[in-house]
Amino acid sequence: QAKSRGRDRWDTVDSFQRKAATERLDLEHQLRAAITDGELELHFQPIVGLDGRDVIGREALVRWRHPDRGLMPPITFLPVAEESGLIVELGAWVLRDAVRAAASSADPGYVAVNVSPNQMIRPGFSDEVEKVLAESGLPASQLVVELTESVMLSSAPAARQEIEQLHNLGVRIVVDDFGTGFSALSYLRDLPVSGIKVDRSFTSGLGEDQQCDRIVEALIGLGNGLGIDVIVEGVETEQQSAWLAGIGVRHAQGYLFGKPSPRYELQPV
Ligand code: C2E
Ligand code: MG
Ligand code: MG
Ligand code: MG
Repeated sequence: QAKSRGRDRWDTVDSFQRKAATERLDLEHQLRAAITDGELELHFQPIVGLDGRDVIGREALVRWRHPDRGLMPPITFLPVAEESGLIVELGAWVLRDAVRAAASSADPGYVAVNVSPNQMIRPGFSDEVEKVLAESGLPASQLVVELTESVMLSSAPAARQEIEQLHNLGVRIVVDDFGTGFSALSYLRDLPVSGIKVDRSFTSGLGEDQQCDRIVEALIGLGNGLGIDVIVEGVETEQQSAWLAGIGVRHAQGYLFGKPSPRYELQPV
């Protein structure tokens, strides 16, 4: 009897797994079509100066306006995009659309685009960036590429070369989700990094969790010491904002200043 119960259990797992695999494949097909059919859209979230709260730039964040499921956040489809290789096509669309939005705005702030490792390590990425900038007329100084620490630490020579070439174009490179992935810091010395974005997992505990306070203080010290910009993500309260300003943080992003919005120039609340 125990044996048959065991088998039932495995049959159930199998059918769950089959269902999940089918759904994933379905999502992949739908996403492929969505990219060409114009179902993706970008929302823009302001990045502000803490002193005066002027908008210094905007981060482009992709969403999928799914015909049945509504507006889908990146967490629901980026993993599928990464695993299927669709991230290359998706990323190219994001880059083009973000640059176009910035170019057609009179605002002098920059637009920050998230670039996935799989998109980045393909030779020719920086050539594509150069082409997109030239076509749109956006100065390279108004484009920021957000990379994760895993790319910065990649031993692939192609990755390093693409980063150097972006820098030579005048595009700034910022390390996203700083402090969450790896503790190696050597790349800050070797690569042309212009800033770090302190992950919002550190921000949520500010003023309540001594460890968070000390870590953020240390990251500001690191940034100041190296002469690179420090942007703190996920600022939601006036208390956090005041605390950050107090320790010398100059740039921040978060719901307190403005949520991601489909309108490029929506000013922070
Ligand atoms: P990220 O690059 O770290 O982007 C910041 C995320 O934090 C965004 O989530 C944003 O909406 C959210 N956020 C901003 N301020 C606050 C706040 O005050 N509180 C809270 N709780 N959240 C805040 P979103 O838009 O869901 O994006 C999630 C992640 O998906 C991004 O994290 C990025 O890694 C990835 N992503 C988004 N768009 C793209 C894209 O076009 N290409 C690639 N490769 N990745 C993207
Ligand atoms: Mg980002
Ligand atoms: Mg981030
Ligand atoms: Mg983050």
